Amino acid sequence: MKITDVKAVYPKYQHVVPSWRTHFWQIVVRVETDFGTVGLGYGAGGVAGVEIVNRHFRELLLGKEINNVEDVRAIWDRLYVASLPYGRKGLTIMALSGVDLALYDLLGKAERKPVYDILGGARKTKAFCYATGEDSEMYLQLGYQAHKFSHRWTGADSDYDLAIEKAGQTRKLFGPEAKLMIDTYMSWDRKVTAEMGKRLAEFNIYFYEDILTPDDLEGQSEMRTLVKPALIAGGEHEFTHFGFGEVARANALGLWQPDITWCGGITAGLRIIELAKEVGVPVSPHRGGEVWGLHLVVATDCTDLAEYHSDHIRFERDNLWLDEPVPKEGYIVPSDAPGFGVILNEAML
Ligand SMILES: [Mg+2]
Repeated sequence: MKITDVKAVYPKYQHVVPSWRTHFWQIVVRVETDFGTVGLGYGAGGVAGVEIVNRHFRELLLGKEINNVEDVRAIWDRLYVASLPYGRKGLTIMALSGVDLALYDLLGKAERKPVYDILGGARKTKAFCYATGEDSEMYLQLGYQAHKFSHRWTGADSDYDLAIEKAGQTRKLFGPEAKLMIDTYMSWDRKVTAEMGKRLAEFNIYFYEDILTPDDLEGQSEMRTLVKPALIAGGEHEFTHFGFGEVARANALGLWQPDITWCGGITAGLRIIELAKEVGVPVSPHRGGEVWGLHLVVATDCTDLAEYHSDHIRFERDNLWLDEPVPKEGYIVPSDAPGFGVILNEAML
C-alpha cells in the first residue's frame, strides 16, 4: 500500500494540571493509504512535534510503499537522517515516534493482526504490572504486587527519614515478596544516592530510577556498585539506539526504560532491546502498560515488568484512546484487535 496522507494533531486536553508531564505533550499521528487503511500513532513534542510531522516528515512519506516491517525501518532511517541537523534527540524523535507507531498500527490493521503478531507473536499472554504513584494502599487493593513510589530530595536531612519511613511502610504493606521501586526524578546526587543505598538496603528495593540527570552517565555508573543488589534504572529521557549506545558504553544503568512514544517508536525500541541483550541489561519500557509499549513487552526480550498509572481511578483524565486494556490483579492483557487495538476519541481533536 502507498501512503497518501500524513497528519499530526495536538489533542484538546481538558484535564491539565500545571505541569507538562500530565499528558507529556503527546500528539496523535494519522497515516492514510491508497489501500483504505488508516494507521494511528502516539508521539510527543506538542505543537513543535506537530510542525515537524506536518511540514517535514509528511513530504518525505507521501507516495512511499509500506508493506512490511523492513519498509518501516527504512522509513525510520530516512526520517532520522533527514531531520538530523535539528534532531537526533528530544522533540524531533518524539515526533518520529508517532509516525513509527502509526506505521506499525497500519501494518497490523492491513493484515488484521495485533501489533505483537507483526513483531513475531506474543511470548506471554499477559504482562506483570507495577503501579506508579503515591497511593500504595489503593494499588494493593487493586491486586498489584509491584509498586513504585517517588522520593524528592529537597536538601533537608529529614529527607533520609522520609525515604526510610515510606520504604518501611510500603514494604510492610506489600510483604516481603513484592517488587518495590523508588523514582527520584533526578533529585538525588552522588552523595545522597550512596547514603540512601545504605539506609534503604533492608527494604530490598528493586531499582532506583532517574537518580541523576541522563547526561551524568559516569555518575550513574559509579552509583551502580554502591546500591547493589538494587539496580540503577533510567532511560525515559534517552532517545534512539544511538543514545542507548552511549548508556551501554558507559555501563551507566542496570535497567533501561525507553519510552516507546518518545524514544523513536517500536523501530527504535527493537534496536534498543537488541543492544540491551548484547550487554545483558533488562528492558522495561517507561509507561510499558500503555498499548504502545505493551505489544513490545509481550512480543520481545523485554523483562516481564510493565509500568501502569492507576491514579485516574480517583482523578478524572482525558480519554484520548478508547478500549485501552487495564490491569487486573496486577497483570495486563494486550488486545488481540488489529493494530494497537485502541480507538481514537475523535471528539478530542
Ligand atoms: Mg520516571
